[in-house]
Amino acid sequence: MNSINHADLLVKPGRTVDLADFDPRSTSDFKRKHEASAKLHADIKQLSALQEVFYASGQYALLIVLQGTDTAGKDGAIKHVMTGVNPQGVDVHPFKVPSTIQLAHDYLWRTTKALPQRGRIGIFNRSYYEELTVVRVHPSVLENERLPPGTTTSTTFWKDRYEDINAFERHMSRNGTVILKFFLHLSKAEQRKRLLKRIDTPDKIWKLSASDVREREFWDKYQHAYEEELTHTSTESAPWYIIPADHKWFARLAIASIIVAKLEALDLKYPVVSNEQRAHLSAVREQLEDHAP
Ligand code: AMP
Ligand code: MG
Repeated sequence: MNSINHADLLVKPGRTVDLADFDPRSTSDFKRKHEASAKLHADIKQLSALQEVFYASGQYALLIVLQGTDTAGKDGAIKHVMTGVNPQGVDVHPFKVPSTIQLAHDYLWRTTKALPQRGRIGIFNRSYYEELTVVRVHPSVLENERLPPGTTTSTTFWKDRYEDINAFERHMSRNGTVILKFFLHLSKAEQRKRLLKRIDTPDKIWKLSASDVREREFWDKYQHAYEEELTHTSTESAPWYIIPADHKWFARLAIASIIVAKLEALDLKYPVVSNEQRAHLSAVREQLEDHAP
């Protein structure tokens, strides 16, 4: 079976990212969708089995962060990759323009409240990383955050944000949250195609907002903000993967494959039942058998 070299997609901590070096159309050594489907099915099945033991062992939490421009395929990736997983073990949280109450708190508040507990998988469809992208592209958004005077004009403002986010993720990681971050890397041409398709498809048109098309005008600024974010916030504790996203099937395959590898590496086991518990349970069995209705 073909495979994907995860190291090719990983942003090595300390690497300066130039998105031009990453081809959004790449499909690794898979030529066509049907070649990938066997591996995707195998990974989805494996993910389902791994999630069961992940839940049972209750040792770690898994946080999956998905970022990427409109139409990059974040929703579709969640839907497809998670198809086999028990819904009781997964929480998906989309983050939109912050509400008044959210703006009355620091920018990590809303996502922190949504973090997964041990044994569970939490998926952030957008996240605090919007604070390094949309907020960076539109500095006027920062005014709504009502930060202390002088904060936003400081020359180290963005550097401070990277530092704070890295420290926050390091803290989460040290305390048992495994973090995987996926940047869905879409080309401008493919986005144009997908936006047009949304307009022309009755089942998709609801997904299109005027702002999606407006934001396209800021394409280069967004790419720059992503590059900065990827350069400064890929760490050992919370690495970024750049997922080529022009082919949805490949993006899904790559994400599933990386999650499976990460969970496998944890080498989790079902909780061990002690001899004492076993003895107790066999007494319970006898009791149940003696009192059949
Ligand atoms: P969608 O994911 O297409 O439903 O769109 C959600 C919108 O919310 C996107 O345009 C995001 O850029 C925007 N958004 C998410 N988080 C923030 C934030 N912290 N500040 C401003 N806008 C945000
Ligand atoms: Mg949108």
